[in-house]
Amino acid sequence: MSGGIYDTIIVGGSVAGLSAALYAARQGLKVLVVTKDIGGQLALAPQIENYPGIKAVAGLELAQSIKEQVEEFGAEFVYDEAVGISQLNNTFRISTKVSGDYEALTIILAFGKTPRSLDVPGEDRLVGRGVSYCAICDAPLFRGKKVAVVGWGDHAFKAVKLLRAYGNKVYIIHRGEAKLTDEELIKDSSEMNVIYMPNSVVLEIKGDTKVRSIRLKNIKTNEESELEVDGVFVEMGYTAKTDWVKGFVQLNENGEIITDKLGMTSRPGVFAAGDVTDMLYKQAVISAAQGAIAALSAYNYIQQLRGRPLRKSDWGKLIEK
Ligand SMILES: Cc1cc2nc3c(=O)[nH]c(=O)nc-3n(C[C@H](O)[C@H](O)[C@H](O)COP(=O)(O)OP(=O)(O)OC[C@H]3O[C@@H](n4cnc5c(N)ncnc54)[C@H](O)[C@@H]3O)c2cc1C
Repeated sequence: MSGGIYDTIIVGGSVAGLSAALYAARQGLKVLVVTKDIGGQLALAPQIENYPGIKAVAGLELAQSIKEQVEEFGAEFVYDEAVGISQLNNTFRISTKVSGDYEALTIILAFGKTPRSLDVPGEDRLVGRGVSYCAICDAPLFRGKKVAVVGWGDHAFKAVKLLRAYGNKVYIIHRGEAKLTDEELIKDSSEMNVIYMPNSVVLEIKGDTKVRSIRLKNIKTNEESELEVDGVFVEMGYTAKTDWVKGFVQLNENGEIITDKLGMTSRPGVFAAGDVTDMLYKQAVISAAQGAIAALSAYNYIQQLRGRPLRKSDWGKLIEK
């Protein structure tokens, strides 16, 4: 067990987690943030224009400035992936992939959404070596190459257009058979700069130190083929990867963590905030507010554990829910 017992462990280092850390640390709580990175989805937004008080800012810059603010109040950070959660007597334990276990009186789950993956051999191994989940971030690294975009719809088409703008030849791999209707893409495909491959699924991503090819299957004919590419952009949207908390807190049919208006989950002492929750609207300012709410609720829960006065008398239900 590392670092003694914390008052709260926050899982996730983007706008929800960092805002929770800010509020919790500022209340004098001993705070640990366990996160894979700083910024999460927010870091993928090149320009945020709807965060109150700031006319325009890159998402990563916004996240980093909240982090600096958090550090001034003494929160600690561990860069790791949380993979397990359990309840001991009066505490909770978060287990991580690499650095071990951490224990706290309360937990705030703020681990947002993660790009959907293909779950095929070669994918994990070649991330950052040709496999990408973010055309906005990585398109400039692939000038004049052959790349595949896996996915369909506005999100995927934006990626295709961006990759085309960098002079790449782009294959669109789509498991359905809908026709291309976007005029720009139709024009590009008539010039063979965009090749549309309907009814296709990726079976494997191949390459030793970087992506060399993908193995495909046509799901109509069952025919398999190999396509030489330098990059694979998986553009299939985002999902709440909540498998590791399933059964511990209640999830909705989309796998999102169900919370009440105080950020409480189905398990007293465990709170949640941001895009990982069942909140309908997924926006930075909403995640920030949810983070603040979860932190104040965690604070009141701890006050109650310690028999100290609460800020509001009706918050007695935090423990007995
Ligand atoms: C391209 C793009 C543009 C956007 N533009 C805007 C915009 O203009 N305005 C706006 O308001 N919103 C915008 N959004 C939405 C906004 O980014 C999200 O609503 C916001 O980032 C959600 O914040 P979050 O803290 O809940 O989670 P996320 O930003 O999803 O971050 C999750 C955090 O948790 C970490 N994490 C995940 N799993 C684990 C784990 N198991 N263990 C440890 N850490 C983990 C991640 O590393 C990350 O730090 C945009 C999103 C995208 C993708």
